Amino acid sequence: MCFTDAAALRGWMAHETRRAAAETALAVDPALVSHAVSSRAKRRAGSCRYTPLPGGRVGTEPDWRGRLRLHREATVTLAARAAASFDEATLRDVLRHELLHVEQVQAYGVTDHGPAFRERAAALDVPLDCPPFADPAYRLRCTGCADVVGRRYRRCPTVEEPRAYRTACCDAPLAVEDCR
Ligand SMILES: [Zn+2]
Ligand SMILES: [Zn+2]
Repeated sequence: MCFTDAAALRGWMAHETRRAAAETALAVDPALVSHAVSSRAKRRAGSCRYTPLPGGRVGTEPDWRGRLRLHREATVTLAARAAASFDEATLRDVLRHELLHVEQVQAYGVTDHGPAFRERAAALDVPLDCPPFADPAYRLRCTGCADVVGRRYRRCPTVEEPRAYRTACCDAPLAVEDCR
């Protein structure tokens, strides 16, 4: 997909999370989910970070009264490289896999890939693993701060005309690096 920068990808993630919570059987409170983008991740397309509830077990719902909200909070991270390489449907599958982990975290304070997870993945038609992603052909760099703000696997409007775009970090034009 063509996201101009990490902020645009985070916006898409937040939107898709609210949509999955509203329109599918996923039992997730979007207010307890944060979204992040990794510009370094090269293998894992998505991940879910949280603070495990001590003694928590998948399938055993703890008494959340008086417990720290911290253990129900989770951050879903997508790899910028995966976002650039996958089409929207594939990327949504990756996000929904991570949201299934969030569902367990919000219910039990912990998550894994055990039988309950696999059952839930089958019921919600969410894949258990995600496809690999390749190295990008182009790197997009902010001409203001020199940060890498995006990657592309093929030519697209951003690559053709980088100076027509403005980055979220510096409101500066993009520069394209050919990495092939
Ligand atoms: Zn997983
Ligand atoms: Zn910048």
